[in-house]
Amino acid sequence: MSGTMAPLSVPVLFKAACSECQARFELPPGSLRLAIGASRRTTFYSFTCPECGSAVRKPAGERIVELLTGGGVRTLRLHSTV
Ligand SMILES: [Zn+2]
Repeated sequence: MSGTMAPLSVPVLFKAACSECQARFELPPGSLRLAIGASRRTTFYSFTCPECGSAVRKPAGERIVELLTGGGVRTLRLHSTV
């Protein structure tokens, strides 16, 4: 019996670019972190550039947030909405 659902073990890679050295690369979800703040200004994702080692931080729009959370990226909520 084989289902039609795709296995969840397919690795997901996110395209990213370093703002320091301009390198482009693909990162697995475990290498990215998403921080969701109270406003769009404080919502961003961050990663360490594999080329130059810089800590890169970029603003994350709604679509990026959806992509990252759906891809299993660790999400940190800076603002409690409860
Ligand atoms: Zn870099």
